[in-house]
Amino acid sequence: MNVWVELVGVDGLPQRRQIAVVERIVDGACLDDLGLSLGEGKAIQRRLQEELVQFQTDQAGQQDRKCHDCNRLRGVHDYRSRTVHSLFGLCRVRVPRMRICACGKTARSGTGSIETLLSGRATPELERIQAELGSRLSFREAARVLGLFVSAARPHNHRTVSNRLAKVADQIEKWDVASPYRISRASESAVSVFIDGAYIRAVPGYQSRHFEIATGRVVSQGRPPRQFAAAPSVTTGKHDVVRAAMRAQGWLPGRDVTVFSDGEIGLQSIVLSATRQPVTHILDWFHLSMRLRHIEQAWEGIKHVHDLNIYLWDVAVHVPRLRHLLWSGYVREATRAVKHMLSQLDQHAWLRHTNNKLKRLYELVRNLRTYLVQNKASIVDYCRRYWSGQPISSSPAESAANSLVNARMNKKRQMRWSPIGAHRVLQVRAAVGDGRLKQAKLALAA
Ligand SMILES: [Zn+2]
Repeated sequence: MNVWVELVGVDGLPQRRQIAVVERIVDGACLDDLGLSLGEGKAIQRRLQEELVQFQTDQAGQQDRKCHDCNRLRGVHDYRSRTVHSLFGLCRVRVPRMRICACGKTARSGTGSIETLLSGRATPELERIQAELGSRLSFREAARVLGLFVSAARPHNHRTVSNRLAKVADQIEKWDVASPYRISRASESAVSVFIDGAYIRAVPGYQSRHFEIATGRVVSQGRPPRQFAAAPSVTTGKHDVVRAAMRAQGWLPGRDVTVFSDGEIGLQSIVLSATRQPVTHILDWFHLSMRLRHIEQAWEGIKHVHDLNIYLWDVAVHVPRLRHLLWSGYVREATRAVKHMLSQLDQHAWLRHTNNKLKRLYELVRNLRTYLVQNKASIVDYCRRYWSGQPISSSPAESAANSLVNARMNKKRQMRWSPIGAHRVLQVRAAVGDGRLKQAKLALAA
């Protein structure tokens, strides 16, 4: 099989060139010989790419030769060699250097000139793919996978992957800061922020062994949800990342924001600094429900023990009620019930010394009281919300934490991160997850 390319430039004259010959035997051919091998495929792709890149450069060179002022053709002084890394291999191109035109004007570079065509050392597509792979796999694995399918002059290197990822991550953030103000107009719907925290291991020498990532989702009706994640002490700040995500979802300062979290104060305050205005906070129902479940189970385990029912009849009455009260948002009643339970448990404190399970129940109820006091403003009528189809939990944030943080930075992976390194990987992971990386094409020139 002979592979030829035919190139047709602006002059309309076709040029043909052979780029590859593939040979196969007929006798004794087997499945191994069927079709192109990976090596052949890579070689053909690289040759195709070289042809196209050189051809485009030549065409741009022809344009450049025309003087913009007097329309005469300028002479070629000499040729230099330039290299561009592309998804299909390293391309070396011959680039002409023009003489100064007889009219004395120097060339200006604009659209269609060689300078714009070859304005980087790598094509943006290659950079995006290196970044995406680096966000999904460890940098070393990403380099290995790229090496399998993508031809390169030298073997792919984990440092290149990490550098490209850094570059793309910075572009994503710049794009985030620049674009929301354009996109955000005309959105009237309320914005919900689901936020959660996740810990990852820090590099040796960092101020602590672990640091916390704030991660989650911003949801606005009629738009695909948007993920965000931010590491501490990065120049942009966690709240800047949240704010950029909210703006991109059409939020405007002054509009309502609902925040869902497990009640951690730090997470709420990130959203507060992002909005710089009061927000409605809703405590995740499942975190609350889990605490109730522990109490229910603890009571279930001891309620049949001889006279406990008699001594602790308040507990016996209130334990089954708590869930219903809180599900319907009756925080004050629930808090009062918990108070009664506690005072009764205190009255019969001697029981605790003989029964470890009762001691545990006591601890659980006491913790619940603190939890209710801390979060009383954030407990809502979950029942009504649930039946009207509104969210009642921060689970979208937890799934963001799983897909963004845990899948790549799990403690089991033995990786250690610097905040900035983690931050960059997270920016790319979030953009990949949302489909923003492709969509944006990251054209940042404007
Ligand atoms: Zn001229």
